[in-house]
Formats: sequence, structure tokens, C-alpha cells
Amino acid sequence: MAFDVDLFVIGAGSGGVRAARIAAGHGAKTIVAEESRIGGTCVIRGCVPKKLYVYASRFADDFADAAGFGWSVGTPTFDWPTLVAAKEKEITRLSAAYRANLAASGAELVEERATIVGPQRVRLANGRELSARHILVAVGSRPTLLPGVEGLEHAITSNEAFDLPVFPRRLLVVGGGYIAVEFASLFQRLGAEVIQVMRASNVLRGFDDDMREGVRAAMAREGVTHRFGILPARIEKRADGTRRVQLSDGETFDVDQVLVATGRLPHTKGLGLEKAGVEVSVHGAVKVDEHLTSAVPSIHAVGDVTHRVNLTPVAIREGHALADWLFGTGAKPIRYDTIAHVVFGTPELGAVGLTEGQAAEGFPKVDVYKADFRPMRATLSGSRERTIMKLVVDGATQRILGAHILAHDAGEMSQLVAVAMTMGATKADFDATVAVHPTAAEELVTMRAPTARYEGGRLSS
Ligand SMILES: Cc1cc2nc3c(=O)[nH]c(=O)nc-3n(C[C@H](O)[C@H](O)[C@H](O)COP(=O)(O)OP(=O)(O)OC[C@H]3O[C@@H](n4cnc5c(N)ncnc54)[C@H](O)[C@@H]3O)c2cc1C
Repeated sequence: MAFDVDLFVIGAGSGGVRAARIAAGHGAKTIVAEESRIGGTCVIRGCVPKKLYVYASRFADDFADAAGFGWSVGTPTFDWPTLVAAKEKEITRLSAAYRANLAASGAELVEERATIVGPQRVRLANGRELSARHILVAVGSRPTLLPGVEGLEHAITSNEAFDLPVFPRRLLVVGGGYIAVEFASLFQRLGAEVIQVMRASNVLRGFDDDMREGVRAAMAREGVTHRFGILPARIEKRADGTRRVQLSDGETFDVDQVLVATGRLPHTKGLGLEKAGVEVSVHGAVKVDEHLTSAVPSIHAVGDVTHRVNLTPVAIREGHALADWLFGTGAKPIRYDTIAHVVFGTPELGAVGLTEGQAAEGFPKVDVYKADFRPMRATLSGSRERTIMKLVVDGATQRILGAHILAHDAGEMSQLVAVAMTMGATKADFDATVAVHPTAAEELVTMRAPTARYEGGRLSS
């Protein structure tokens, strides 16, 4: 049977664009549909604008630290519209680069919403229908909102936070995950008074407990107010545009904006998946096998829509692997166990592999090496910040099971630790590696004695 296209990709974000380019490169006739801006969440309203704003926020530390090194800095001022405009220019450039790369690969782009009308059939918003040998669902995820909060329409999500017309002097951040932590941290540094509330008892559920505590303490030192085990109950928009928030414990206060960052879910509502026979989870995630293929052999899914590891490089790697498997050089397995997860607060938190708790539960013997110290820059600047590093080691094989770093540039360090861990590095390999001095990262190769040991899941020393 002849099809209009070999591959129809729904969503021109990280995963969809990569899959389309690689498939077209293998000679597959490929169309990509996008209902919003080309580049997807990461480029338009995720990683890229976020990191640009994180950079902007860190000048606050530079100005503050400079005096200890002999500099006199006048009173620094910050202009929000200048940052928003500069960010917009950069993401417009990147979006154009994505468009150009797609065109150069030979894939066709249609700028419309697409839905699935059958196992090998899609419909565009203009009513045009096409047949496709394979359909790739790469529609990503979208912010979830808290049910049961009265006046929730007066809150914003990360989608709106980048383009607020006026800088919020007082900001309530709801949520304790990495996006909530990053926004709380960066807005505080840009000059906002930030309160962060969450249902959990600490920030960053899923990360190593010592690191969670380190991040909380660092944020508190910078002035972020945390309230745990609490959520907003009611948000009222007042005549002057401010929001009056009532928390679940009855406390009431006024802020300029309420940013809800309580998680993201697959963007699959109304996509036609169930009608086509695709199995989805209760959260709307497409269930896929090891070949990123759904219950329907012609329908595949990559990236956030599978709701497994929701990170850009994972979506890209999956899109690439799928296109190779369908049209090119065959299946290439993806390593999910050594993916670095980074929280771009200040300092950054980088984590690869198992936490201390996970390792203690899953391995008969575990050695933990931990260092907690004042970074060199802080000695002259007078800053009270701490750097924390932890290696979690399998006591039987000495293989590194987890590496956790709370430090400046932890994102950069954890990328390289992830390479070592992918290669199966042991503690002896770290010990045999000569340090780079003076750096913070040298601590990773100079930690001599375990600070904790577990046997059978119990702390033994
Ligand atoms: C604030 C924030 C910060 C983040 N920071 C990081 C980070 O630092 N590092 C990191 O690795 N990841 C980060 N992420 C996560 C990252 O952005 C996602 O994991 C990544 O974008 C997922 O790629 P994807 O291809 O699955 O989906 P997306 O990039 O979201 O692309 C999906 C695309 O599909 C389009 N679409 C949806 N439905 C349809 C339809 N029916 N028809 C046509 N088009 C459709 C959407 O408009 C979108 O463009 C961040 C996310 C957020 C929100």
C-alpha cells in the first residue's frame, strides 16, 4: 500500500525535530506538524530561556562577592524588560535555526495542529488528511494545575513566567520540584521577595536527602521563605492587580504573582490516541516498548509524552534512536541509568545514578563518601555558601552507583561524572585519577575514607 508519507511527526520540539531530521536523512518522506512555535518547550519556554534567566540572576552574587576581592561596585540595578527582550531575540534565533535545519534535512514542516484519526492516518487542523506508514507522537507535556484551589485562574505557570509584563516584586512559588526551585531561586536573585510552598516536607523529592537539605539551606540563606506541607486554598485578584492568597493553614498574604509549578503531564488530550487503539496511562502518557513503539505497531512516541525521563537530551536521543531503528541503521539501546539530572539553582545540584537511600535499599553493601566544605571563592567574598559532594559506591564491586554534587558548575561536573559512570568507573578509578588543583571537583577524586557504610540496608558505621 502506498502512503502519503513514511513518517508523520506530531510536534516540532526536541524529540520530534531530531526524529524528523534523521528519518529524512535516511531517505524517508517525512512531515512534521507543529501547532505553536518551532523548537518546542526547551527552546521556547523551558531549558533555554530558564538558563538565560539563571545567568541573569547570578550577577547578583557577582556584584555582592566583588567587594571581598577589592572591587567597588555602585548600587546595581536590574531592568526586567531588557532581559525579556534579549531572551526573546535569542529564542527567535534558535527557533529559526531549528526551522532551517529541518528544511535542510528534507523534512517538510506544516504549522498546524495534527490529530490521529487511525493507526496510519492523521488530520491537520485545516481538515486535510494524510496516510502515514509510521506516526510519531512527540507532543511533549504541559504544566498541571492544582485542582481544588479557588481562583486558580489568577495564577501563572512557567509558560507565562518568562514574559511577565511587569517584574513581580513579591512572588509565591507553589511546588517543590526542580522547576519550582529554579524559578524561586532565580526570581529571588533578580530582586523578588519569594515564598515557596509545597505539599512535601522538603524540596526536590527523588533527589538525595543530603542534597535536598543543602539546596533548601542555600535557598533559605539567600532569603527564600519555605513553607512545607502547605498549599494555597484560595487566590483572589485584587483591584490593584495584586493577588491575595490564603494558604491551607489559613494564613493570608498579598503577592504580585502566584507561580504554580506542581508538575507536568503529557499533552495528549484530544489527540485521538485511544480511538486509534494506543494504550495510555492514567496521566495520558503513551505506553511504549523498548523500541519506543505503542500498542499500535505504526504509532510511536518519544520524549515527555511517554512521561518517563522528561529531559531534552532524552527526547533527542529517543527521537534519533527511533528514526535509526525505523529507517536506518537499526536499534541502538539507550542508557537511562547514568543520565545526569541538574537543578539550575545557585549553586547547582547535579545528580547521576542512585541516591544514598536507593543504593542502601537495593545493594547488600554500600559505602558513602561525603564532603561538605566552603568553596574557595567564598573565603574572600564572605559568602556563607557550602559545597557538598557525595559518591555512593557498591561495597562489593566498588562501582560508583551514584554521584551527587551541590556546587557552582555542578551541571558541567555531573556531565563528565556521567561518562565515567557509563564506562563502569569504580572508586579505585576515581582514586587513581590525579586531582586538578585548585578546583571544587578535585574533591571527587580525593575522598579517602567512607563517611557512612550500609549492610543489608542498615547503617553499619
Ligand atoms: C521551565 C522548564 C525548564 C526546563 N529545563 C530543562 C533543563 O534544564 N534541561 C532539560 O533537559 N530539560 C528541561 N526541561 C524539560 C524539556 O523542556 C522537555 O523534556 C523537552 O522539551 C521534551 O521534548 P519533547 O520533544 O518531548 O516535547 P516538546 O519540546 O514539548 O515539544 C512538543 C511540541 O509538540 C507541539 N504539539 C503538541 N501537540 C501538538 C499537536 N497536536 N499538533 C502539533 N503540534 C503539537 C507543542 O507545541 C511542542 O512544540 C524544562 C522544561 C520546562 C517547562
